[in-house]
Amino acid sequence: MREAELLEGLRETWLNSMVEAMSRGSGTREDWQNQMTRFFSLLLQAVDSGTPSWLDPIISDWSTSLTQTDLEESTNNLSRILEQMTLQTIAVIKENLPPDQALQLTSAVLPCFTHCFETAASLEMQARVTYVSNQLADARLTLEKLDRSKSDFIAVAAHELKTPLTLVEGYAAMLREYAERSAESQAELALLEGIHNGTRRLRAIIDDMIDVSLIDNNLLSLHFQPIWINRLFEILEIEFRGSLMERKQTLEFLPFDGYDEMNFGDPERLIQVFRNVLNNAIKFTPDGGSIWVSGRKLPGFIEITIKDTGIGIAPEDQTIIFHKFSRLGDAALHSSSKTRFKGGGPGLGLHIARGIVEAHGGAIWVESPGFDETACPGSIFHILLPLRNEAPDDKTSKLFDTLKTVNNS
Ligand code: ADP
Repeated sequence: MREAELLEGLRETWLNSMVEAMSRGSGTREDWQNQMTRFFSLLLQAVDSGTPSWLDPIISDWSTSLTQTDLEESTNNLSRILEQMTLQTIAVIKENLPPDQALQLTSAVLPCFTHCFETAASLEMQARVTYVSNQLADARLTLEKLDRSKSDFIAVAAHELKTPLTLVEGYAAMLREYAERSAESQAELALLEGIHNGTRRLRAIIDDMIDVSLIDNNLLSLHFQPIWINRLFEILEIEFRGSLMERKQTLEFLPFDGYDEMNFGDPERLIQVFRNVLNNAIKFTPDGGSIWVSGRKLPGFIEITIKDTGIGIAPEDQTIIFHKFSRLGDAALHSSSKTRFKGGGPGLGLHIARGIVEAHGGAIWVESPGFDETACPGSIFHILLPLRNEAPDDKTSKLFDTLKTVNNS
């Protein structure tokens, strides 16, 4: 007797026992009756033709009806149902057919069930991957929203803080003038100097917060002008002279090709970049250490390097330091001096530097053998800037046209 005929003979018994077994779990008896009748017809076709893929449509329907809870809890419902159906089918065959026919039919239906398992597993996996990808996309959207509201908050808070700060600065300046005029007010002058230092520091932090929110919201606008790298460092050398003397450090400029050539960039913003990097070099180098500024000209770019003999940076931190609020070490370490050894800061300087350099179309990165406060392996900051012989916007470019011809002649 053919396998399909043997199976056909078991139709009623198989259906009754299957509906009985399956409806003990979940779903109504009527639902199971319909599903099992359809499954049996397809199983019969599969056994008769020797093509298990006859069962694909029903497995596909079952897997698409996987509920949200199944996906969330990673329960493998479909595989469990198929397992139960396989065992139940074998039991029905064994109980209702003589051993040789039972063996013949079991060998015919088992490949069909194996095929169902494989199809179900792959469909379930696809459904789960889609579900997880959707979850990830949702989480990314939420994070983006949170980041945006954080930036908005920083911008609003910074602007709100600026107004009262301007008042404090104004009144402190008036008091200072008043105290300077009266000869006996040396003590008051010292107190006023303290207020002045505090407000200056506060203004710097607020300005940094505003810069961070401009960078994060792609609102940083650059004012391109002719620049000369050596001139920018001449300004900074004067600015840092006091701190370098205080820390007994040396700052040396090693001339390189392109160092004194005209380029286009935003001088104020680039000074801010070099200031932040130099400030860190001073801050994270012990007393008596050295700092060198050098670089090289590359095709289309100029690379500036700032090297120090400081405590260095661990490889795993070398990208993190360019993220906002990324301060390594002890967060409790805070100092009113910007250049005290290992003095704390808000962790915004390098994030701002990266934002400015990238807005110029350049890149910034650090190289260091690692972090060691005793051996002080040092760090080298690289700043790559594109070489431009005109400003990227037409208006500014025209403004400096004559200068270009003078420079080229
Ligand atoms: P801040 O100086 O306000 O903490 P920055 O963004 O300028 O923030 O720097 C982030 C962190 O990177 C610093 O706290 C410091 O741990 C590390 N860092 C930056 N420059 C150097 C350097 N030259 N040597 C060693 N560590 C550095």
